[in-house]
Amino acid sequence: MEQKHQLQKAVDLVRGATRIAAFTGAGISAESGIPTYRDSDDSLWSEYDPDKFANIDYFMRDSSLYWRFFRDVRYQAIRHAPANPGHKALAQMERTGRLIGIITQNIDGLHQEGGSNRVIELHGNTRNIDCLNCGARYSMDEIRAQIDKELPPPCRACGGMLKPKVVFFGESLPEQALVEAAQITGTCDLLLAIGSSLVVYPAAAFPERAKMNGAKLIIINKTPTPYDSLAEVVLRESSGEVLPALAAACAEE
Ligand code: NAD
Repeated sequence: MEQKHQLQKAVDLVRGATRIAAFTGAGISAESGIPTYRDSDDSLWSEYDPDKFANIDYFMRDSSLYWRFFRDVRYQAIRHAPANPGHKALAQMERTGRLIGIITQNIDGLHQEGGSNRVIELHGNTRNIDCLNCGARYSMDEIRAQIDKELPPPCRACGGMLKPKVVFFGESLPEQALVEAAQITGTCDLLLAIGSSLVVYPAAAFPERAKMNGAKLIIINKTPTPYDSLAEVVLRESSGEVLPALAAACAEE
């Protein structure tokens, strides 16, 4: 009953907003079959230590552990994952002209797959893999094939070290993405924070920033977040169920 009331409040907020922004995390892709990082016993970091598998110092010392993880775990999860109703609903909201952009912590590319155009990737993506020496760029499919023969995979052009365009712990976030995210959170009148535990900084500061700039805040997350008390509405439901209802409200005249 309470959640039904919260959903109605969220629909009303969407109806009254003209510049909606979305901030997304691993939870929105959970329904596409990609494990989240830290909300359950089978989430990624309960099995793989982020100090080894997602830390830039460790990667630079020995990247073969990461590439094995990429081959056996990440690539398998991400390569064939489809966009789900949550991703598609956000794309639909963008098409109405009222969603001005998505700020995502995800690296899976599923917002673009679902049809969204303005996607700001704070933590990079796994689609592109760059040579740190000569700058050559490869796709994840190319490197996946190479890893079976050689670990870690060297750059085919110069033999240099390869790194996915993902932001590891210990690295700075891309400057351009930060500028665009600040611009969106500075001008939106409603921010939807979706499927994020809101504990990884500096990314997690954006919903609060939007709120401080006068936007309303809706949090859609299965478990509590540190910012729940700041939100006008908190929906503890799955994004794939809630977002289509909000997209429908957005499409109304
Ligand atoms: P997180 O794992 O910390 O939190 C995910 C949250 O989503 C949890 O609080 C959980 O309760 C919620 N959730 C799970 N399923 C949901 C659903 N169907 N609907 C609504 N909520 C749901 O993830 P985070 O906050 O994004 O953590 C940040 C880090 O995770 C980032 O660095 C990001 O790069 C990385 N990450 C990305 C992917 C991806 O690209 N798909 C996957 C795992 C982790």
